[in-house]
Amino acid sequence: MSTNRLQHSPLQPEAAMHSFIVQAGDPFVLEIRRGQNVRIVDLEGNQAVDTIFYNARDYSDRYSAQDTIREQGSIYLTTGTNLLSTEGNTLLTITADTCGRHDTLGGACATESNMVRYALEKGYMHACRNSFMKGIQSWNRGMDKKDITSNINFFMNVPVTPEGKLTFEDGVSDAGKYVELQAKMDVLLVISNCPQLNNPCNGYNPTPVQILVWDSNVQ
Ligand SMILES: [Zn+2]
Repeated sequence: MSTNRLQHSPLQPEAAMHSFIVQAGDPFVLEIRRGQNVRIVDLEGNQAVDTIFYNARDYSDRYSAQDTIREQGSIYLTTGTNLLSTEGNTLLTITADTCGRHDTLGGACATESNMVRYALEKGYMHACRNSFMKGIQSWNRGMDKKDITSNINFFMNVPVTPEGKLTFEDGVSDAGKYVELQAKMDVLLVISNCPQLNNPCNGYNPTPVQILVWDSNVQ
């Protein structure tokens, strides 16, 4: 259930065609073409990177946590995981992972859940759902609130207890750890680099991440 498949990538950062830094708390949107590889680097460690993938030709076909979990028979994501869409397409495959596992059950933080989980006065604090909205609005292709569906929390440690409860634990990631995915079709990547300050998912200190993209067949 929690098999970690640590795997380094042969791809060299110097050969990447794009490199972006996403500051703590910021959204990020990018189209990734079929065959391209995208790496997310946890630059300073213990940073949750909330991520949704869409079929770039049809945004109503998007990442499905349920289908991904059912098909691989495991609740955590790591090397070898195929990220499936609501229409049963493989959007991307995780090809390298130096962290070991990633959550897809915990969902994205919202002002509402911050109030329920922590305190009413936390309602003003910035949350991932705000960043996702900001991201898709800046992309400006007609997506709306209804398009913010299940997501992945890269580098986030959300163990499931024997009783079936979710707990937010201190991160298992560390500075420089990364996860790399190969696109199996043209996809839209939408990230909220989580601003959460009320639980240990970011070590109470949100930090930047790096996004690297390699063109197909470049090593
Ligand atoms: Zn968040």
